Amino acid sequence: VKQIILAERPKGEPNKEAFKMEERELPELKDGEVLLTGKFYSVDPYMRGRMSDSKSYVAPFEVGEPISGGVVAQVEESKSSDFAKGDYVIGNLPWATQTVAEAKELRKVGEEDVPLHYYLGVLGMPGLTAYFGLMDIGQPKEGETVVVSGAAGAVGLVVGQIAKIQGCKVVGIAGSDEKIEMLKSEFGYDEGINYKTAGNMQEAVKKACPDGVDIYYDNVGGEVSDGVIMNLNFHARIPLCGQISLYNSKETPTGPRIQPMLLTRSVLMKGFIVSNYQDKFPEGMRKLGQWIREGNVKFTETIVEGFDKLPEAFLGLFSGKNQGKMIVQA
Ligand code: NDP
Repeated sequence: VKQIILAERPKGEPNKEAFKMEERELPELKDGEVLLTGKFYSVDPYMRGRMSDSKSYVAPFEVGEPISGGVVAQVEESKSSDFAKGDYVIGNLPWATQTVAEAKELRKVGEEDVPLHYYLGVLGMPGLTAYFGLMDIGQPKEGETVVVSGAAGAVGLVVGQIAKIQGCKVVGIAGSDEKIEMLKSEFGYDEGINYKTAGNMQEAVKKACPDGVDIYYDNVGGEVSDGVIMNLNFHARIPLCGQISLYNSKETPTGPRIQPMLLTRSVLMKGFIVSNYQDKFPEGMRKLGQWIREGNVKFTETIVEGFDKLPEAFLGLFSGKNQGKMIVQA
């Protein structure tokens, strides 16, 4: 079988040299294990952090070992009473065309009437991130203005739609006019700002949000966030979800950058990791599932065909190649 390993730790912006394709033999199946064929592979911004060896909330990938992440796979052979041949499962699995995994590390999917790759997106880690970050930290109230950066990505698309369900005005920030158009015409966003062409972000946010900003759901950090923060209202909330604009920086700027705004406006800024909410995942899944069935939450993805394209798809996240969730289909 083929697998993709971490060949070297990138410094700054990663490129294809960081990855290497290898062939390997599969071990014999033992009791409690299943043989899986990968169907849909998730590529996510957090994987950039795991390519470095700095300490974080997930252990770094090892050089010479396969990259791993969320994968939807099909059972080919089973030595577990929990799974039968043909079942679909999701798990944290290596980037390999086939793999042997312990049944207890897997969860069965595919019994609901949704596409299988939804479990990597709206009904998976990104959807839950959107739900808990917005609802628990953002605490949206009817009539408030919510700004979302990284709005056209996997998390951002869901954040905006949940904010609409809560009766908020929603403004999305993304990196192309096409994405802004999609946010407004397909995902209910009221306004959009293309941060690549907007010029002065502080002015652009002010124009889009004449009543100021009550919640800033931050996926990107950096100068985009500076511009939003200058428009925050008294008692605004910032769910600090991601900082993708900084993941490839060789030097990270220090400190909350617009400190006077945060202080004088009594702003709550709170970082979080989706797994903080692990105990409540069933609630999040139920809510998201209900909104999908009701037609209040929609989703889209950029599906790249071919296992070999995993590195390219991952790298594409940093140049905005995806609309919605970036997924590789084997
Ligand atoms: P996305 O699907 O949003 O993909 C990444 C997007 O980020 C790209 O499409 C691109 O869109 C944008 N982007 C890339 N580089 C920059 C940049 N320099 N400045 C501004 N935007 C940039 O990814 P996800 O939805 O999976 O993740 C979004 C964020 O949420 C990430 O920061 C991620 O790390 C974080 N996250 C946090 C979790 C948590 O538990 N806290 C869990 C999951 C995700 P564009 O064209 O608009 O530039």
